[in-house]
Amino acid sequence: MKILVVNAGSSSLKYQLFDMDTNEVLAKGNCERIGIDGFITHKCPGKEDFKTEANFPDHKAAIEYVLALLTDKERGVISSIEEISAVGHRVAHGGEKLRKSSILGEEEVAYLESIVGLNPLHGPPAISGFKACKEVMPNINHVGVFDTSYYSDMTEEAYIYPIPYEFYEEYKVRRYGFHGTSHRYVAGEAAKLLGKKDAKIITCHLGNGSSITATVNGKAVDTSMGFTPQDGVPMGTRSGAIDPTVVTYIQKVKGISAEEADVILNKNSGLLGVSGVSSDCRDICAEAEKGNFRAALALKILVHNIKKIIGSYIAEMNGVDAIVFTAGIGENDRQIREDVCKDMNWLGIEIDEAYNKTCPRGEIVDISAKTAKVKTFVIPTNEEYMIALDTQNLTK
Ligand code: ADP
Repeated sequence: MKILVVNAGSSSLKYQLFDMDTNEVLAKGNCERIGIDGFITHKCPGKEDFKTEANFPDHKAAIEYVLALLTDKERGVISSIEEISAVGHRVAHGGEKLRKSSILGEEEVAYLESIVGLNPLHGPPAISGFKACKEVMPNINHVGVFDTSYYSDMTEEAYIYPIPYEFYEEYKVRRYGFHGTSHRYVAGEAAKLLGKKDAKIITCHLGNGSSITATVNGKAVDTSMGFTPQDGVPMGTRSGAIDPTVVTYIQKVKGISAEEADVILNKNSGLLGVSGVSSDCRDICAEAEKGNFRAALALKILVHNIKKIIGSYIAEMNGVDAIVFTAGIGENDRQIREDVCKDMNWLGIEIDEAYNKTCPRGEIVDISAKTAKVKTFVIPTNEEYMIALDTQNLTK
């Protein structure tokens, strides 16, 4: 069974074609600068990478281009579009109603359209990406896999904010949580490694956007991102959790609008805001090594906040079996992993620092010290595979 996974952004459309019988990625790529001066990168194992300029006025033109490439005699991997059994779409926000991955019919799409206000950045492109794919592949099922749905089983005390209850009732202001597909995948892999279905696992997805999730028995019980992906640990350019009064105070002292304050907190804060160097951890580490105080401080603030959230989730779950690091920083930044796990031995968390420095990248590794009560794993995330798997399960 072949499944196409599509992740549509406002000016991009990423895709991966999976053969679910062999668990192989047959082809993957990205259409970028849709509506501007588009180009595509396309990769198939065993073939030369392909990159070219291409004119995509919209998502429909992009998906048509992708399908032509996938079936191309020279660069393609399938002989006809008919070989694609179903399409899985990454959708960031499923609101309160789309609580699990679902076949996208009229009702689901109407609901997604009704909640774009909750998700103005990612909602509209995901919907137009789906519509474009449905138009060119009308006879197969299209499945929506929602980043928020992993959090559907959280209890009210974990998702209701302590503000007037009417804001939840009338405007659906609550913690939704994001990166759910990634947390679900790596927590599932960790549970397999532990050989324990009811395991208590804390997954740290640390990338340009970062979130931490607590999972018990395969279900998320709490997560650091909230109403939006702005909450939780400091990120590349987002502040993460701060005293909410800082926002209104900044607005007053600088005489700026809510929108301008939003830009400061979303685009100019986090690692970039503190370091003044970059939003990219690699640049900040390099500057910190040269003695740049603010770069070093940004990293210390990041580590401090990750530790704080891990500690709070251990308290919430009354223990933990495994800590998992994933995504760009989690999978690659050995120093951040060491700093996060330092002085946590009282909680049973202890890593083999020497192995953490030398362990291979891009594969699952156990970096726990022999004496540690809690396992620490590095698990490369694979959201696309999770989407393909959900799509297969719903459509086969
Ligand atoms: P996104 O949230 O955009 O998917 P990624 O998961 O790709 O982000 O993570 C990007 C972050 O990972 C950046 O801060 C980058 O510096 C960091 N990163 C990527 N590779 C490395 C590396 N080899 N060493 C340290 N940090 C890395």
